Amino acid sequence: AAEMDADFRQLMELADKHSKLAVRTNADTPHDAATARAFGAVGIGLCRTEHMFFEDNKIKAMREMILATDTEGRRKALAKLLPIQTEDFKGIFRAMKGLPVTVRLLDPPLHEFVPQTESGQVELAKAMGVEPKVVHDRVEQLHELNPMLGHRGCRLGNTYPEITEMQTRAILGACLELKKEGIETHPEIMIPLVGVVEEFKQQARVIRETAEALFKEQGDRIDFLVGTMIEVPRAALTADEIGKEADFFSFGTNDLTQMTFGYSRDDVNTFLPTYLDKKILKVDPFQQLDQRGVGQLVQMGAEKGRSAKPTIKLGICGEHGGDPSSVEFCHRVGLNYVSCSPFRVPIARLAAARAAVEDKK
Ligand code: PEP
Ligand code: MG
Repeated sequence: AAEMDADFRQLMELADKHSKLAVRTNADTPHDAATARAFGAVGIGLCRTEHMFFEDNKIKAMREMILATDTEGRRKALAKLLPIQTEDFKGIFRAMKGLPVTVRLLDPPLHEFVPQTESGQVELAKAMGVEPKVVHDRVEQLHELNPMLGHRGCRLGNTYPEITEMQTRAILGACLELKKEGIETHPEIMIPLVGVVEEFKQQARVIRETAEALFKEQGDRIDFLVGTMIEVPRAALTADEIGKEADFFSFGTNDLTQMTFGYSRDDVNTFLPTYLDKKILKVDPFQQLDQRGVGQLVQMGAEKGRSAKPTIKLGICGEHGGDPSSVEFCHRVGLNYVSCSPFRVPIARLAAARAAVEDKK
């Protein structure tokens, strides 16, 4: 990316002059963040924090946390995760050099963090200093038939607020440390899978109280935003209520598509190819935003959000943020930015400019 040729760079700069939509990126590592910046991304629109836990030492502490049977056990495991997460976030903020970074609180399907094998459970029990049966019973208790619609996103943070506390401390703690080095940061904390305004309010309260406690301890503060994903249809339908509380919305059109159609994202491997063959669907709605259906929810969410708070920031961070026809739709709805994977940033910048030029005509 660093070698992007001069003509291309010039074309991109020209494109940006016309655009109304900013282009951010979805990135969870300093490497992806730097790549996207080189492609002209003006911020991170989605940093998924669950991916950060899959490395060896982190997944162990994460499993201990999820399988703990009480708050004290969870806090013990979270204390191990805090310094590691803080370093993760420092790397990302450093790579973005003062551009805004939206960090999404933990949103894994829970089963991804639960050891599935007998031997894995025995090993974990040993590490936790409990009988294997305790871990086995807890795994049974957490088992879900349909984890993608289950105990994930803010449902996790609302059940176990100590996770939200740890992540808030890691995000804002990273910013405070960087501030000492003279590095500017603009953190935006994003709550996933909100469907009911009270889910947002309770998580936002935990975030703000944790932030105040941290600022008091450190004798310094950082400005930050608290916003939400709009990815559950009910959130789009009640976006006027949620908009009063949130500083920003980011439309998660992957989940919004899944839940509006009632398809699973895994259905691309089962019947969706047949549906495309038979022309029941013209395009894969997970690739190209379904403007007729899902798009109405995006438009409604944007309008209701703005009616509640005219200054609310609006973006999109589903896969559609890097698809040209979907980007054009986002322009028409008046979103402030799209966020896509690093290598799609130039495509999104061109599509945003094209939409603005067509609009003027
Ligand atoms: C979404 O649902 O559109 C989204 C961006 O979140 P994820 O893909 O991580 O569920
Ligand atoms: Mg989602």
